[in-house]
Order: sequence, then structure tokens, then C-alpha cells
Amino acid sequence: MAGEPQADCLFCKIVAGEVPATIVHETETIVAFRDINPQAPTHVLVIPKVHYPDAATLAAAEPQVIADILREARTVAAGDDIEETGYRVVFNTGAGAGQTVFHAHLHVLGGRGLQWPPG
Ligand code: 5GP
Ligand code: ZN
Repeated sequence: MAGEPQADCLFCKIVAGEVPATIVHETETIVAFRDINPQAPTHVLVIPKVHYPDAATLAAAEPQVIADILREARTVAAGDDIEETGYRVVFNTGAGAGQTVFHAHLHVLGGRGLQWPPG
């Protein structure tokens, strides 16, 4: 069923506590944890506890959870004290855009200058 945990999904395993992660915050609907291969001093992933392959699919099915994820970005930025200096939020969507884990996730990046457009 849509949204149900997938046995072969890394981020479902992090939600279930079966794979360790450095969790910075958790709510009823989302988990925020540090990226294992950080691209900036702050690099946190915010994921829904429910499984959808990407953000667009999640937004179509459970728009409130996308709102929870975006709200969490600000909480992460406040926690790492990067609200003033700025931060970037990214949903890579599709392999051609660099998505490698097909459980929706928001990247929150900051703590250094960020170029635009990205590579
Ligand atoms: P994507 O490329 O799909 O947008 O982002 C996936 C992110 O997940 C990458 O930035 C990658 O470093 C991160 N990642 C992959 N495996 C793990 C893991 O086991 N633990 C954590 N914390 N992050 C992971
Ligand atoms: Zn999953």
C-alpha cells in the first residue's frame, strides 16, 4: 500500500531504527538526521516516516507531510545557527538529478557559501 515501509529501503530502515543515523530531530511524521557524506558544514536530510519514492509523489498523496518537512528545514537551520547566513533546501527528483535513495528526502545545506546554479 502507498506509504507503507519497504523492506529494501535504506531510509525506511533508518525510520525503524534498524540502520543507525545521527538524528537531530524527530516528530510524529518526520525524521531529520545528518548526511553520512556531508557536502557542507550543515547537511541534514529530512525524511517522511512514510515511504514514497520522491517528494512529488509524497506531495500528491500526503501534502501535509511535505509541509511538515519544509517546516522542519527551519528548525534544522535554527538548531545549527545558520538562519542568518542562509541555507539551501533541495529535493533531488529522479536519477538524472542525482537522486540515489528512492525514499523522499529534503537536503538542508548551509554553513558555507553556496553557488548558484549548482553543478
Ligand atoms: P540523493 O542523492 O538521493 O538526493 O541523496 C541521498 C543522500 O543520502 C546522499 O547525500 C547520501 O550521502 C546520503 N546517504 C546515503 N546512505 C546514507 C546512510 O546510510 N546514512 C546517512 N545518514 N546518509 C546516507
Ligand atoms: Zn523507504
